[in-house]
Amino acid sequence: MHLLKHSRRAFLKAAAGSCACALCGGANARVLKYELLASEVESKTWVVHGRNEYFSFENGGNIVNTAFIEVPEGVVVIDTGPSKRFGEQLLDLISQKIPGKPVLRVYNTHHHPDHFLGNQVFDPQIIAAPQGVIDNIEAEGDALTDNMYRLLGDWMRGTDSVAPTQALDASQENVGGRDFSLFYLSGHTSSDFVIRDNHTGVLFSGDLLFMYRAPTTPHADIGDWRQSLAMLRDTDRDLIVPGHGPGDEKGEAIDQTLDWLDWLDGSLRDAVERGWTMNEAMQLPIPERFNSIAVGKTEFERSVVHLYQKYEDELMPAIEIVQ
Ligand SMILES: [Zn+2]
Repeated sequence: MHLLKHSRRAFLKAAAGSCACALCGGANARVLKYELLASEVESKTWVVHGRNEYFSFENGGNIVNTAFIEVPEGVVVIDTGPSKRFGEQLLDLISQKIPGKPVLRVYNTHHHPDHFLGNQVFDPQIIAAPQGVIDNIEAEGDALTDNMYRLLGDWMRGTDSVAPTQALDASQENVGGRDFSLFYLSGHTSSDFVIRDNHTGVLFSGDLLFMYRAPTTPHADIGDWRQSLAMLRDTDRDLIVPGHGPGDEKGEAIDQTLDWLDWLDGSLRDAVERGWTMNEAMQLPIPERFNSIAVGKTEFERSVVHLYQKYEDELMPAIEIVQ
């Protein structure tokens, strides 16, 4: 119990940019080993905590939180990481912590490549997600995988995009003697899947929540995202495991994510209304209150690229000239 408390405390405290140590391990470029470590954040619930960074060869794409849970008859896995190599090393870690029990279920929270490209080391028949996540992986998985090869090179060797085979739509599922509540949301992407272990109260939010790290927006709809955050705020839980960043007992990840999205939305609207170009919008200073948020500048610039055209289309509709 003492060890468990220590582990959760470490997961809660892991701040932006400070986790390239015992919690996540450094990538050793020579042997390309992630050196994954698992924190037991709740009884029989482990989180493999990625760095609060952007993709680089140095981190091998290990920037994401994945998790695994021992249930009475086996193991449940939530997200599988950025590469086949990561999936293999995650499986090794699972068999060290929970020897002799089979993986019964793998959930994918959404179709971003850092969350599902370890899928291929698991039995496809046990990998599950909402139909929307499956459709997104089938439509975009190969292109997203190609981009990861460009970013991460040899870390990706042998990695293929593998979609879940099990489409979920029920609000609950019993896996190996444990009940999970399943929430079908959107906003970070068109299909975001949230899972709560009803035995422990741990809520796995995927990338609807970021903690001490700027949210990513390549497939975002900020209006839908705000609605999902409101719903998560009202959802009972004991601990949130966000898609990126340390654990959260108090709902701070909800506040941080909403604060960033509100600022982003307001800033881009304002820039379009002033008639600024995308390049001018990118020069906007990031408010000091976000100083503790990792990769803010990088993600803001990426968000301008992703979203600026949408704001221009919405706020400056083309004028039809009638002759
Ligand atoms: Zn994502």
